[in-house]
Amino acid sequence: MAKLLIVEDDDNLADSVTELLKAEGHMVEHVSSGADALTLLAVSQYDLIVLDLGLPDKDGVDILRNYRHRGGEGKVIILTGRGRIEEKELGLDSGADDYLTKPFHVKELAARVRALLRRPEGVQTNVLKTAEYELNAKTFTFTKDGVEIPLTRREFALLEFLMRHPNQVFSPEAIIARVWQSDTEASTDAVKVYVNRLRNKLGDTLQAEIKTVYGVGYKFETKTTDKK
Ligand code: CA
Repeated sequence: MAKLLIVEDDDNLADSVTELLKAEGHMVEHVSSGADALTLLAVSQYDLIVLDLGLPDKDGVDILRNYRHRGGEGKVIILTGRGRIEEKELGLDSGADDYLTKPFHVKELAARVRALLRRPEGVQTNVLKTAEYELNAKTFTFTKDGVEIPLTRREFALLEFLMRHPNQVFSPEAIIARVWQSDTEASTDAVKVYVNRLRNKLGDTLQAEIKTVYGVGYKFETKTTDKK
């Protein structure tokens, strides 16, 4: 499950894109203006941003430059009007990973999104395994010793995020930025609640667990390398 932001002032287009990407299992947020995009990009982290260059209040290229300048590492697909070759080039030079020319079929965009999310950086795989756990990000299933443990969407997203970065410590704030939608009022206590729920569902285990690093945050600790 990836966290995506759609920046597009054509609401019909944005709605169909949002609907399709949600159906593919992603957490999708949509804003219609450049100002709103900048606000969200300052507080939230996204795996991928679909950015229309022709926004009513700002130039998409400026948003992209601003985002990259501040260290934003999400993948970016820019949307441009037909034939605006110079816009495409400017966008790619400014740090976009891909572009689509309007009009396009939303399925084409979904395919580009899939391709970019697959691109390494530690090779994004759909199945994460430890000796006893298996999390399948494609089928949204999680098993312990082969037995499925039902998880809510949020629990799943949190566990997937931690399992993708084993033995790395994340502050509650960093976890909120990655796993929660920016329009929810998530507090560090909420993270604690979800971590505890996950711990209860995962049960006692010797091989891997979500550890609290006092004063810092949480990590998914694996104690043995997986051979399964
Ligand atoms: Ca537009």
